[in-house]
Formats: sequence, structure tokens, C-alpha cells
Amino acid sequence: MKSGKQRKAEIKQSRLARIAKHNREINPFKGPVPEWAIPVNAAEVVYHSMFLDIPLFYVDKEFACKDCGKIEIWTARQQKWWYEVAKGNFETTAVRCRQCRDKRKAKRDAQKKHMEEISNESY
Ligand SMILES: [Zn+2]
Repeated sequence: MKSGKQRKAEIKQSRLARIAKHNREINPFKGPVPEWAIPVNAAEVVYHSMFLDIPLFYVDKEFACKDCGKIEIWTARQQKWWYEVAKGNFETTAVRCRQCRDKRKAKRDAQKKHMEEISNESY
């Protein structure tokens, strides 16, 4: 005799399996589509590889920062912005966490300022 708790778990399992199957049917190549996934506007994205398999949706992606190794989430919204507004190549992905990006930007700005100061001094 099964307990009510076990039965409940079984019902939950079969429901999850049904949802997963449904998601596979609407998006057969990319696995389950979460409710918060953002549709890709394929007309707006820039890519060079003919063989690139463009997904139907952006989903949050986890990545390890190239500089500090921190695990950061690249959100679906940020991806849409990067590929469709900033026109980042579709073959590129986020490689640095926000902190390291800010650090690099600050360094670049400082260098630029420094260069400007040097060129001003020569007059
Ligand atoms: Zn980092």
C-alpha cells in the first residue's frame, strides 16, 4: 500500500514529464522553454556562420568570468540587448562579470584621459 505522500510525488513526476514533453514539442532542439524566456528576433541578430543554429529563445545563461572566475548569470534580457540592439555578433557571449567589465572600462577611461593629458601638454 502506497502512502498518500508517495502518490502525490508520482503525480507530480508525471505532470513534470508531460510539461517537459510539451516543451520539447514546441522547441525541439533547445530543450524546455521556461516561461520567462524571451523570443529571439532572428531578423535583428548579426551572425557570420552559416551553420549557426539560432535558438528560438534567449534564456539566462551561467558563465565563469574570464578574469576572476566568478560565476555570473547573463540574463535573457541582456542577451537580447547585446545581440539585437548593440549588434554584438551572435557567436560572441559574455566572458567577464560586471565587476571585471567595470574595472576594465575604468582602466580604459583612465588611459584615454592620460593620453589626452599628454597630448595637451605638447602644445
Ligand atoms: Zn570577474
